[in-house]
Amino acid sequence: DAPILRKPDWIRVKAPTSAGYRETARIMRENKLVTVCEEAGCPNVGECWSQGHATMMIMGEICTRGCTFCNVATGRPDALDVFEPGRVAVAVEKLGLKHVVITSVDRDDLEDGGAEHIAQTIRAVRRKNSETTIEVLTPDFLKCPASALETVVEAKPDVFNHNLETVPGLYPEVRPGARYFHSLRLLQKVKELDPSMFTKSGIMVGLGENRQAVHQVMDDMRAADVDFLTIGQYLQPTKKHHAVDRFVTPEEFAAYEKAAYGKGFLMVSATPLTRSSYHAGDDFARLRAA
Ligand code: SF4
Ligand code: SF4
Repeated sequence: DAPILRKPDWIRVKAPTSAGYRETARIMRENKLVTVCEEAGCPNVGECWSQGHATMMIMGEICTRGCTFCNVATGRPDALDVFEPGRVAVAVEKLGLKHVVITSVDRDDLEDGGAEHIAQTIRAVRRKNSETTIEVLTPDFLKCPASALETVVEAKPDVFNHNLETVPGLYPEVRPGARYFHSLRLLQKVKELDPSMFTKSGIMVGLGENRQAVHQVMDDMRAADVDFLTIGQYLQPTKKHHAVDRFVTPEEFAAYEKAAYGKGFLMVSATPLTRSSYHAGDDFARLRAA
């Protein structure tokens, strides 16, 4: 077990108490939807849910992978729920979302990794919410035929997000079961399949990486034509999870953000509380208006 370090002053989160928070929670329960906000114990849940911003996690609550930073249970998942895409579409409508982020567990048990289910969810959301922009945060489809990725891209999400999560040197201890260059290549393939689609990726810092390795990851992402970048502080969910190596200071985050824009990313969020889906809609709307 790794003891949980005390959080520094710059990591302060609002308690989830607002009426908006309760309404978001109600809509999620009513539609039997799982959110990564809750599953990951996200520190931003008070702020995001008070504005109705929830990131739905589809394909069940059990993941076939066991990333050491992640609070989602590992095991044998349940069968896919064919009604889930429709319920996600209803929830997006009820929340009145202008931008939705949809993520999922990894489904190595399915031949297509769940690609068709993700595509169906995109289509269902779009049918009911024609003005909503859709961002998917996908698994890596490591053991799937090439057609899996194509299936998701053909459903035309507005933003295709796949997180590299950490620097390559830490993959064996942080993301066992994943391959750094496979994930990078996946992002590149999305751009090759549809150059008009925005691609996005992110990492956590404070896991033991150094500055040089973070810069290398940014360069690798740009070489794969990744458009948007998120960098946030890793927080340890429980004693059983990977230890926090250190808390990266707000000044260091600001330096990463500046460097990332210098490398050509179109949109960058790098703050201690940045998560893949944090303010994703606001940032995307700003970019489209520019
Ligand atoms: Fe949910 Fe993302 Fe907001 Fe966290 S940052 S509460 S995961 S929408
Ligand atoms: Fe968690 Fe995703 Fe890793 Fe599964 S693949 S353990 S959901 S981070």
